[in-house]
Parts: sequence; C-alpha cells; structure tokens
Amino acid sequence: MTNVIMLGPPGSGKGTQAERLSHTYGWPQISTGNILRHAIEAKTELGLKAKDAMDAGELVSDEIVDGIVAERISHDDCIKGFILDGFPRDLIQAKALDEIRKIDVVFDIRVPEEELVERLSMRRVCDCGETYHLKYNPPQKEGVCNSCGRKLYHREDDKVETIRHRLQVYHSQTEPLIHYYSGKGVLVDIDGTKHIDDVFKNIVSNLPDEAKQ
Ligand code: ADP
Ligand code: ADP
Ligand code: ZN
Repeated sequence: MTNVIMLGPPGSGKGTQAERLSHTYGWPQISTGNILRHAIEAKTELGLKAKDAMDAGELVSDEIVDGIVAERISHDDCIKGFILDGFPRDLIQAKALDEIRKIDVVFDIRVPEEELVERLSMRRVCDCGETYHLKYNPPQKEGVCNSCGRKLYHREDDKVETIRHRLQVYHSQTEPLIHYYSGKGVLVDIDGTKHIDDVFKNIVSNLPDEAKQ
C-alpha cells in the first residue's frame, strides 16, 4: 500500500503530477478541489456550503473536507494506495488524516511565486479533471479537451487578484505542513520548475521501494 500526498502551492503542478501517477500506478487521485467543484456544479448542499469560500480563494471548512476525504478513502479502490491532491491544506486536516491512515510519502513541489501566477492565469481546465496550460501544455485543438472533447474553461478563482490571495492562504495555512511532514521523515522536495516529464521522473524515482515493484 502506497499512500501519497501532493503538497505545494496552487499552480505548482500537484494535479498534473497526481494524474500521471494515478494512470501509471492505478492509485486513485483524490482531488478535494475537483470534488468540491463537482458538488457546486451539481448544486448539492455540500456545494452550496463550499462555494463562497472557494470563489474568494479561502479554505473551505476543515469539517467539510475532512468528511469528504475520510469517506473517499474508505472506498475499495484505495486499498493499494491513493494520491491526495490538495489535501491536507492545514494542520487540523493533517492531524485528522493521521488518525485514519498512515502516509508513506509527501511530495513538496517547489515553484517560485511569479511562475505560479503565470501558470494559474494561463491554466485551462476541463470538468473531466484534465488540466492544460495555454503555453506549456496546450490542448491539441484550441479550447477543447484532448481526452473527452468538452470545452475548456478558465477557473473563476484563477484570476490574478484571487490567485494572490490563495498564495497568501497557502503561506499562512498550508506551508507549515512542510515542517510537519519533514519531522515525520516522509517529505521529499521536488523541483517543480522543470519540464512536466522530468518532474514526473523525479517523483517516480522517489516513490517508496514497495511502490516500484
Ligand atoms: P496545482 O494542482 O498544483 O494547482 P496544476 O497541475 O493544475 O497545479 O498546474 C498548474 C498549471 O501549470 C496548469 O496550467 C499546468 O498545465 C501547468 N503546469 C503544471 N506543471 C508544469 C510544469 N512542470 N511546467 C510548466 N507548466 C506546468
Ligand atoms: P489548486 O489546484 O489551484 O491548488 P484546488 O483545486 O486544489 O486548487 O482548490 C481550489 C479551492 O478549493 C481552494 O482554494 C479551496 O477553496 C478549496 N479546497 C480544496 N481543497 C481544500 C482543502 N483540503 N481544504 C480546504 N479547502 C479546500
Ligand atoms: Zn475533458
């Protein structure tokens, strides 16, 4: 069993790398952001509760996301491992997770702030979960998802003012997790400025031995 966390600021490439890992190893990618966006789209009670915080670039309450993750990782498809993408985002969530699962490796993807802003402002996403970048990872056909053919869109919270705020939230609430997981001996630093393929190779080479068999 290999339980992985993708840590790193918004735009560092967590989703991009989690998806590749998931395709290669078969562990489900659990993206709390995607789950929350689907709930908003479906106008569920959960979506209603999460929407204002998400639009403002604030964190959704710990209670809500802890519940989502605990439920999701109890599914059978997580038996051989899972990849958490966007969770935990603060110490309360990290401690709640410790109560239910052991984490094997935490990848801290590092990218300088100005590059993050450029990545997010030119990010385009699909409801199926695929992520593109207008310059660094464009779709084959402009504005259309390679894998499902739907129309790509620019996330509401990927405009510059909200990006800046999300980065502040990252520094104050999420960054302390680097120290937390480093103290547990499971943190691996990843240079996120390299080409997507090279970042992936570096992540794979740092997976626990058990995963690579
Ligand atoms: P996160 O999930 O951490 O917010 P994403 O995986 O959505 O990050 O990536 C943010 C944006 O940067 C996307 O537009 C993605 O295509 C692009 N991107 C991801 N990794 C790289 C990379 N290594 N180099 C250049 N652009 C990248
Ligand atoms: P990014 O890929 O840019 O890092 P996400 O898709 O992970 O962004 O998250 C988008 C928004 O969803 C966050 O700004 C926050 O409002 C909410 N969210 C996602 N995951 C969490 C979490 N673990 N705790 C609280 N809020 C979350
Ligand atoms: Zn798609």
